[in-house]
Amino acid sequence: MLARGIRKSSPVLPRYFSSAQVRPADFTHAVIGAGVVGLAVARQLAAREGTSTILLERHDAPGTETSSRNSEVIHAGLYYPADSLKTKLCIRGRNMMYDLCSKHDIPHRNTKKWIVAQTEEQWEYTLRVHKHAQSLSDAPTRLVGAEEAARREPDVKADAGIVESPTTGIVDSHALMTYLHGDFENNGGDCAFKTHVTNVEYIPGEGYKITAISDEDGSITSITAETLINSAGHGACAINNLILPKERHRTPAYAKGTYFSYTASRPRTSVLVYPATLPGHGGLGTHLTLDMGGRIRFGPDVEWVDDPNDLKPSPARMEQAIPEILSYMPGVDPSAIALDYCGIRPKLTRGGGVNIGKTFQDFIIQEEEGFPGFVNLLGIESPGLTSSLAIGEMVDGLLHR
Ligand SMILES: Cc1cc2nc3c(=O)[nH]c(=O)nc-3n(C[C@H](O)[C@H](O)[C@H](O)COP(=O)(O)OP(=O)(O)OC[C@H]3O[C@@H](n4cnc5c(N)ncnc54)[C@H](O)[C@@H]3O)c2cc1C
Repeated sequence: MLARGIRKSSPVLPRYFSSAQVRPADFTHAVIGAGVVGLAVARQLAAREGTSTILLERHDAPGTETSSRNSEVIHAGLYYPADSLKTKLCIRGRNMMYDLCSKHDIPHRNTKKWIVAQTEEQWEYTLRVHKHAQSLSDAPTRLVGAEEAARREPDVKADAGIVESPTTGIVDSHALMTYLHGDFENNGGDCAFKTHVTNVEYIPGEGYKITAISDEDGSITSITAETLINSAGHGACAINNLILPKERHRTPAYAKGTYFSYTASRPRTSVLVYPATLPGHGGLGTHLTLDMGGRIRFGPDVEWVDDPNDLKPSPARMEQAIPEILSYMPGVDPSAIALDYCGIRPKLTRGGGVNIGKTFQDFIIQEEEGFPGFVNLLGIESPGLTSSLAIGEMVDGLLHR
């Protein structure tokens, strides 16, 4: 069955329908994809008086794709151009995330992060990140001297220098998604799991007819919604291509990242440690993050793949990662490092870099021209988890200007 408890839409209409045009749809809002971003968007829309929102997800639970295969870092927003969506939504989302987590006891910790440079070239770039951070309204960074570094984190090596981000932290992404899902439903939202969207038709003046196949019994159902939000992660380009004309079609690209577990109790650190990466890098280097239990994990690295389901860690990646890890944490015991899990970044171009530089690709979050009420969310890679609450706010703003 497609949706539990389908309710008719309310008379409160999004701004682009005049009442003369409207024939009631099943829902005011339909969101495709129950990852952390789709959950945050759906929750935000459902909180608005007089709306009816349905969240459509092909799996049997929320957050089983990219949203459960990441570093769970609350990013500060240091790396991207000042006027980019990534900077604005990351900073806003980070502040919203800390507030929400504190208010609702969602496990999180303001660990702080060190960017460590080993060479003059890396230090030059790290100082550029520091200078850039000073120019942003709310992403402060500070330099850490050698004496302070040795006192606070004696196991971390940084021959050329350290920049600290005091606002970086970690969050239990599963607990966050459980909260968002519950709050969405408390606000009257409907979830339809095992519901794979296979077709979307724009009906001018009415909205969107969405057809989906049930992964439970193979049945095909259609619903209508006045607005449609494409938050389908790795499936977002396919949804885009179902709706927009050929010349606006998109091709997805996939940057796989492998994580490595670390089972030894030494060396230790209380901060997250990121090796300095140079512009154009597809990720943020094989860094060290901590989970809520204080366990170290290394990764992710960057490997371009053709298939978003290519999630098997490959032993060859470990051989490449170990020297990178040892460069900033020389006391690590390589025999205690093991392959862990993989995540795949939903990119829009192969080779697209993550930080400032010629290959920088911003998030695409827009209501598509000629398709009123259709909001596309494309390329929602890192810092998508951090930005999720702010993305929810932005999408709500686009639909209710
Ligand atoms: C290796 C890695 C590390 C990362 N680390 C961080 C980090 O530390 N901090 C941070 O802020 N961000 C991080 N990110 C980014 C973050 O994980 C993502 O931006 C975020 O999870 C994206 O969420 P989403 O909801 O857009 O996508 P997803 O979680 O992929 O959800 C999309 C959902 O859409 C569903 N779907 C797709 N097509 C259809 C369809 N046709 N019908 C129905 N349902 C469909 C899918 O099943 C899926 O559940 C990282 C990403 C990766 C890959």
